[in-house]
Amino acid sequence: MFIALILVEVECLRKYRREYLKIAELPSFVEISENARKKVEKVMEGFGLTSAVLLSGKTSFEVVGSKIYDKVSDKIIETFHVEKARMDEVRKIEFQIGYSDVDCVIGVGGGKVLDLGKVLASELNVAFISIPTVASHDGIASPVASFKEENRPVSISTNPPTAVLADLTILRKSPVRYLRSGYGDLISNITAIKDWILAKDKRDEEYSEVAASMAVMPASLMLTTANLDISNLKHLEMLIRGLILSGVSISLIGSSRPASGAEHKFSHAIDYLGYGNALHGEQVGIGAIIMEYLHQKHYGVGDWEKIKESLERVQAPTTAKEIGLSKDEILEALMFAKKIRRRRYTILEDVDPDRKEFELVVEKTGVA
Ligand SMILES: [Zn+2]
Repeated sequence: MFIALILVEVECLRKYRREYLKIAELPSFVEISENARKKVEKVMEGFGLTSAVLLSGKTSFEVVGSKIYDKVSDKIIETFHVEKARMDEVRKIEFQIGYSDVDCVIGVGGGKVLDLGKVLASELNVAFISIPTVASHDGIASPVASFKEENRPVSISTNPPTAVLADLTILRKSPVRYLRSGYGDLISNITAIKDWILAKDKRDEEYSEVAASMAVMPASLMLTTANLDISNLKHLEMLIRGLILSGVSISLIGSSRPASGAEHKFSHAIDYLGYGNALHGEQVGIGAIIMEYLHQKHYGVGDWEKIKESLERVQAPTTAKEIGLSKDEILEALMFAKKIRRRRYTILEDVDPDRKEFELVVEKTGVA
């Protein structure tokens, strides 16, 4: 009996080791405040960083990047304006910096800038300081970059940012559509975690309570916040904190599992099929309504109406029409979503809905 127990224990440990026993790299410094941008010099000094490459978008440089530059100009060896998040852009920058002794990449901007910064810093094996000017998804602190190659979306694993300076003064002035999208991405953790629990129960998939809590708790908190208004500084701070924790939960287990389930497959399908022009968070928000409905219908857990109402409250889109998609395109995307990453077990693999069931779901939820 005792030996059997030990054997079971060893077996568990072996599995544990295979899945998670690696050293998680996490951001070493995170600041969310109205003055976070001003900490860049302190952060560089703290980490002993002396020669940085500054990446920024054209507008983000004018508004914020130039001020960051002024603060640490003696430590910046070159500045680049990022237009596209693509591998050839990374190569171009690498070629231009040549054999300079770069020990840091600073990204000041939106998704494309931060994505490129993460990949560049990982390739150069140097520190990355993330200074988001918009917060449209959890990529501001995650170890994943979204690139577009030959018009197709690709996800690239990177090191997580060394430091994240989330400046509420900057983010508050960013276009509200991006914040609404960020809210959608955060809320989507609710269905992502339901999918993960389903995979744990049905497929014995390794599950991390800590990572799951980090991803889902801020989302649940915002879902139940009365008079939610993301232009309110307190609520904005909650949103940013949630997105950062979501990114860190991905770093913690080295997989996007805590923040990406069936609702993300749906969004990836839309991107892959090239439908519409919506933002990532807008698509996963709508995906979350649909997947929550399926969880509720088949397992009696969840409240899709609450998710929908909460998205409506921040004026994020909740219908196909609002993101420029037809009912047919939504159904196509849902059918295609079933073919994406089949090894990631979600409600789609579990229930395997056909087109008819999807049609019913999008009608019932008012998505299309
Ligand atoms: Zn996402």
